[in-house]
Amino acid sequence: MQTHMPIGYVMVNGKIQIDKEKFKIVKKIYSEYLKGKSLVAIAKALSEKEVPNANNKTNWTHSAVGRILENNKYKGDEFYPELIDKATFDEVQVKRKQKEKQLGRTAQPNSMKNQNLFSNKIYCGECGEPYRKYTEHSGKASEKSRWKCKKYIFKNRVLCRNLFYTDEELKLVFKSAVNQLIKNQRLLDMPRKKETPKISKERREIENQIHQFEEDEDFSSKELAVLIFKRAELTYSTSKIDDYEVQTQKIKEMLIGKDLLTEFHEELFKEMIDKITIYQDGKVETQFINGLIISEILEYKRKDEKNGYTKKNSGNHTASNEI
Ligand SMILES: [Zn+2]
Repeated sequence: MQTHMPIGYVMVNGKIQIDKEKFKIVKKIYSEYLKGKSLVAIAKALSEKEVPNANNKTNWTHSAVGRILENNKYKGDEFYPELIDKATFDEVQVKRKQKEKQLGRTAQPNSMKNQNLFSNKIYCGECGEPYRKYTEHSGKASEKSRWKCKKYIFKNRVLCRNLFYTDEELKLVFKSAVNQLIKNQRLLDMPRKKETPKISKERREIENQIHQFEEDEDFSSKELAVLIFKRAELTYSTSKIDDYEVQTQKIKEMLIGKDLLTEFHEELFKEMIDKITIYQDGKVETQFINGLIISEILEYKRKDEKNGYTKKNSGNHTASNEI
């Protein structure tokens, strides 16, 4: 599971802390922007200097820089320690608004941004591959784009026969899943696994045993390696639980005061969705960043060979909580 931790923070023992190395990158981005550098120029400089981004890669894009400049976690909140002081953060927001006005930027339904919105978010539940957008009759009036499994055609053969969906259909899937959450926020309060007393006890015992080895200076013991590995496993499982809390809180904040969506909401999609998984029987699972899955069965038009669904079977929503 991805952690979605903004760059500049790390999770240490289940607590979010400032990353002693990477916080400087965030500070630098804010100060360069206020000095008048453009998002593109900042991204280019970071890439050239091979500064690692949140995914530990060095290919910075202007939109990645933009997201850092608008992430209000950096001001600090219940979970995140303050990394950028409020005055600086606000100054940046004002400047960005002005810039946007100057550029006369308006949301365009067919912008490149929109085209790539679903990239790496749609997965095939049959073979695990990501979905890709295939465009037929490109440039002609009959042009048609649909999302298909990456293995739909592989080495000139049809390997995966999972269903195709259009952008519009995927947007409906998202809208429907979010509306389920808005209607029923209780889904976010479902009992989740906490660290059980059994785990705490096990962890304490392991700590003691490791301590014993360290006191005896028997660092080469195979047993010690096993214990250290076990401890790491336990720590990982608890930090996952803490991450669930953080991500659930994030979703709740985004949904505060929201009415049922009547249209697709790009920002919510980008911020709240981990992935959408498609199955051959028409089941579609929308997984939120905290691991919550809303699944739905879409009735599928088979007889005319046209892919797409006609009617949503609203009685078929289920939610599961996988953590
Ligand atoms: Zn597939």
